[in-house]
Amino acid sequence: MQLSSLLNRFSEPETLKMAKLGRELRAKGVDVIDLSLGEPDFDTPQHIKDAAIKAINDNWSHYTPVAGFADLKEAVCTKLKRDNNLDYTPDQIITSTGAKQSLANAILALVDEGDEVIIPTPYWVTYSELVKIARGKVVEIRTSVENDFKPTPAQVEAAITPKTKVFMFSSPCNPSGAVYSKAELEALAAIFKKHPHIVILSDEIYEYINFVGKHESIAQFADLKDRVVLINGLSKGFAMTGWRLGYIAASAAIVKACEKLQGQFTSGTCSITQKAAVAALVGDLRPSQEMTEEFTRRREKTLALVSGIPCFKCFAPQGAFYVFPDVSAYYGKSDGTTTIQNAADLSMYLLNTAHVSSVMGDAFGEPKCVRFSFANSMPNIEKAWARIKDALAKLK
Ligand code: PMP
Repeated sequence: MQLSSLLNRFSEPETLKMAKLGRELRAKGVDVIDLSLGEPDFDTPQHIKDAAIKAINDNWSHYTPVAGFADLKEAVCTKLKRDNNLDYTPDQIITSTGAKQSLANAILALVDEGDEVIIPTPYWVTYSELVKIARGKVVEIRTSVENDFKPTPAQVEAAITPKTKVFMFSSPCNPSGAVYSKAELEALAAIFKKHPHIVILSDEIYEYINFVGKHESIAQFADLKDRVVLINGLSKGFAMTGWRLGYIAASAAIVKACEKLQGQFTSGTCSITQKAAVAALVGDLRPSQEMTEEFTRRREKTLALVSGIPCFKCFAPQGAFYVFPDVSAYYGKSDGTTTIQNAADLSMYLLNTAHVSSVMGDAFGEPKCVRFSFANSMPNIEKAWARIKDALAKLK
């Protein structure tokens, strides 16, 4: 059997691969602590679960409109006004089976063969692979821990060509934790205003997990808003990864294009999830705030423990729930059996020796770093970093 050539154009998500390796080791009886996790370890807030149970009992069991129920699109508009002071109308909203599908819709709706998509490194694993699926060309802008993992305006300007179709980024950023300030977004917006052929894909899924203040969206700049595809979802801020609800706010033309694609792929997302999502978006935000307070404590703890690890260069994340240290000082070192050549080797060494799973930076376009999540309990965080410290001490 000959499978399609499409399958050779892109890779499986490394994040899922690492989680799988950790699970396999655990199945053999090894006590593995999972710091590869990309999801909150909390339960979904009760009022959201109650709305879902009510939806089941009210028999919301039929197919849904492709872009989502009218009340859900209204709820997204209400949320965008309340949290972001952004004005959108329901025809500018499409909900999907997770922000991952929102991103896929947007890329397939915008990118043709040979179109260039600028992505600052490090970026979420799926970005580059979606571009490859669409036969576009990924143009990376390299950032590093030294410049807080954010590109300078000059770097962005230099990456733009007549073939640039999309600029794609996340704030807060997975994996680096970088959060763009209003002034930084304004500087980017000033560049894009000079290049009207570029669409800006702004992934804001970690909006609520922000340790430095108010979330800012690049959609706030009025003369750019029409070219911004704002992507958000419920997975991270409401601890609803398994419910699968993401959404796009964009111009009606882009939303219509996404709807056409989604109409052939999946149709509207789960009816029960949509009803629960209304309760999440316009309901009580205190449970989300409490989760962020706990992430704040775990971030402090993690940073204190990481500062005790020799030779890790670590940026203090401003948002999301990861640390992403530069671990390259360990390259070339050995415990007598294993020699660490790169981030993948270090990540595997920590899995096999410390029994802690992490994700190598290569997956995010940054081969010098490894991502460690702090979406795990405080005792597990403490135990994991003690083990990591011991394992690294053996490398000479
Ligand atoms: N964007 C980023 C930056 C993410 O980290 C993730 C999930 N890991 C997503 C999008 C996709 O989220 P969802 O669960 O809504 O598909």
